Amino acid sequence: SRSEVTYFGAGPAALPTPILESATLALLNYNNTGVGLAEHSHRSPLAAEVLNSTKDSLRSLLSVPDTHEILFMQGGGTGEFAAVVYNLVGVWVERRRRKAEAELVATGVKKEDVDTKVLERLKQEIAEELKLDYLVTGSWSLKASQEAVRLLGKDRVNIATDARTVSADGKFNTIPPEASWNLTSTKAEGGKGPAAFVYYCDNETVDGVEFPGFPERLAEGAGEEDEERLVIADMSSNILSRKVDVGRFAVIFAGAQKNVGLTGLTLLLIRRSLLPPHTPIPAPTLLHSLSLPVPPAILSYPIISSASSLYNTIPIFDVWVAGQVISSLLSRFGDLKVSGQEEVADSKARLLYAALERWEGVYRIVVQDKRVRSRMNICFRVNPGDEAEKAFLKGAEERGLLALKGHRSVGGIRISNYNAVSYEGAEKLSTYIDDFADAAT
Ligand code: PMP
Repeated sequence: SRSEVTYFGAGPAALPTPILESATLALLNYNNTGVGLAEHSHRSPLAAEVLNSTKDSLRSLLSVPDTHEILFMQGGGTGEFAAVVYNLVGVWVERRRRKAEAELVATGVKKEDVDTKVLERLKQEIAEELKLDYLVTGSWSLKASQEAVRLLGKDRVNIATDARTVSADGKFNTIPPEASWNLTSTKAEGGKGPAAFVYYCDNETVDGVEFPGFPERLAEGAGEEDEERLVIADMSSNILSRKVDVGRFAVIFAGAQKNVGLTGLTLLLIRRSLLPPHTPIPAPTLLHSLSLPVPPAILSYPIISSASSLYNTIPIFDVWVAGQVISSLLSRFGDLKVSGQEEVADSKARLLYAALERWEGVYRIVVQDKRVRSRMNICFRVNPGDEAEKAFLKGAEERGLLALKGHRSVGGIRISNYNAVSYEGAEKLSTYIDDFADAAT
């Protein structure tokens, strides 16, 4: 039964049992309306209430500043790999267009010639200066960079760092030092940048690598429209597990299915200055003339934002589950907010890494560099290899410790230590790690 197991799945992941229990009631008969929440119209006042209260709770839990808007999207993390490209290239084009127009007008170009000249200049700038910077530190940032190549071509994508090139075994298990990153140079640095954005994945779910904090190198130029690096972070697998200085990011996105709720919902935090009216959407006809892709409406941040996340049929039941998870964290941790959860996540991770480190001959933690070890996805190998790993997994299952198999692309064992994994669950696993190693030595 559910109470006898601890589920360490990497996503979809465990959800708190009391929330699932109230969810079953909400599915059948929401607030005594006789109709289930998944059946109610997404345009009903009741759905608006669910949406707004979930937004308010998230704003409070993560201390999201007023400079940032919260959107609910669909299409998962993978949808966002494409969305960030479409939308931030749009921002880049609009900023360059405005600048070109202002400069041409100032130099006395005739009104009727301005549009043609702006177009010529934009074409040249796109050919020579439009770049997207990616920090590739694991499988998911790699995938995101590959999506950018698919949409815009490889000449536009600058892999500012690839962690495999500095690791001893050519695999993802570290983060190269910031000073070595080959970011597109800003004008202040003598270049033609900055890039339309710098992208990174805050926690690499498959490889167990997590950024210890905001990369300071990316803060250069902050606050200046022309020079600032617009930072995008994929927080799909560590959102709500630690404090984040949201104000420093242009965009943060996260699929809900690990720490927040059900599959089918994506959270997006976006700086308002990147949205209309501050930054208008470039006209599709302009993008056509520039041979740049036009964002599908469903992935367009300005369109979703102007419809208050109700552009199409949003899964309101998913939003409700997310709202329950978020508000339960708020009530559990009070003024500590997400820092309260951070302490719990850190202590579970410390417990598990310590157990693995006690038995160096039996277990090998994949990420040796302690500064970048993920608190959320703890990846390790069992010596001497395959058979030992199979035995480890079998013994774990016998104790109700489930879903510990590593991602198919890397093998080994992976403990996903998301928020719904209790401290007691982590303790049971830590005991098993000791017992298995004790029997093996
Ligand atoms: N980014 C990260 C960090 C992930 O862990 C995942 C999925 N596990 C994705 C993106 C892709 O998300 P989705 O499956 O929702 O498209």
